[in-house]
Amino acid sequence: MIPLEEARRAVLAACASLEPVTVSLAEAAGCITADDLQALEDVPPFENSAVDGYAVRAGDTSTVPVELDVAGTIAAGAPPSIPVEPGGAVKIMTGAPLPPGAEAVVMVEDTDPLDGGHRVRITATVQHGDAVRHVGDDVHRGDLLFPAGTEVRPAVLGVLASVGHLRVRVVPKVRVGVLSTGDELIEDGAPLAPGQIRESNRTMLLAAVAQAGCIPVDLGLVADDEAELTRVLHDAATRCDAVVTSGGVSMGEFDVVKAVLDRVAEMQWMQIAIKPAKPFAFGLLARDERPVPVFGLPGNPVSSLVSFELLARPALRQMMGHSGTSLDRAKVVAVADEGVRRRPDGKVHWDRVHGEFGPDGRLHVRSTGPQGSHQLAATAAANGLARVPDGDGIAPGGDVDVWLLT
Ligand code: AMP
Ligand code: MG
Repeated sequence: MIPLEEARRAVLAACASLEPVTVSLAEAAGCITADDLQALEDVPPFENSAVDGYAVRAGDTSTVPVELDVAGTIAAGAPPSIPVEPGGAVKIMTGAPLPPGAEAVVMVEDTDPLDGGHRVRITATVQHGDAVRHVGDDVHRGDLLFPAGTEVRPAVLGVLASVGHLRVRVVPKVRVGVLSTGDELIEDGAPLAPGQIRESNRTMLLAAVAQAGCIPVDLGLVADDEAELTRVLHDAATRCDAVVTSGGVSMGEFDVVKAVLDRVAEMQWMQIAIKPAKPFAFGLLARDERPVPVFGLPGNPVSSLVSFELLARPALRQMMGHSGTSLDRAKVVAVADEGVRRRPDGKVHWDRVHGEFGPDGRLHVRSTGPQGSHQLAATAAANGLARVPDGDGIAPGGDVDVWLLT
């Protein structure tokens, strides 16, 4: 058995980030930027009002209430054509350009219209600059907004749009093919014949791939048949950036999946010192421009998902330009409310737990139930994976590292 860290290192070393592409802002959502991005313009581009109200000369409001003549109205999008004269005011909407002569805006709540809107009573004093947004007080033209390697979150998109970027260069989303193998599996909802079970890993893994930020590609349920599996893998190599398989990678007798993968890819067959998900295979499928990583996950459903989380997910995210802590799930040092009982076996256990934040501000976790690698229900009830080091477990109230599955 090898430590998880060694397996991860080998996998990450072989999964380089994809070549950047130029896309529209909408398509860039969730991607990692490939270039430093500067502000092309000032934001705001002109001095404007922060509120609906009346543009005034500040000195005219030093004693209130005071009545001023209203020279007109400026809406957002209109040119600032009506100047503010001493003793006068201009009605103005949020975002409308400040007219010449104006020094501040009195919010509408501090005013009463008079004479059918030709005059206004001001009931609050304003200072020079009140409720005025200045040129560039959000960003200045030429500012470095986002260094290369920034994740394009919604607010990042908003800022890029606000300074006039229409297209950006980003690392594309990885297209990940997912297939499951096994002659015992059926997927059509028919009654189960003796020995058959329903195929469940593919739907689960396709969703996990999507949740990781990748584009899922369903490669189907493949029988334990060498020709069929070879054909599906070759096809996958032409239209996917990575492939995830489920089943057929454990130790033991001859398996079709092993035989085929060994023929079409350069595979490493690993036994990792973790429970669940000890067996794991990784390799590179040959393709013209670049090799296509293949992640061979075990078939037991819990192992399949845990293996995806610990090994495939960070590698896929690295291919999409993520690095450092953003490769993995958020990690928290939680309190094991019930403690965790286990025996030393040379493996790190990844228990499925449910956690809630307590009044002490800490995450408190409890096991979600039977932890067998075929018992997926406890995984479905979990919002975290608790890392339980080799040894005798964790005493009630002890600290435990948890990866948040949210
Ligand atoms: P394997 O890794 O192929 O030896 O499979 C280990 C166990 O997981 C067996 O009990 C399989 O029936 C089960 N299994 C394999 N693939 C799937 C799948 N796609 N959905 C549900 N169970 C599976
Ligand atoms: Mg199998």
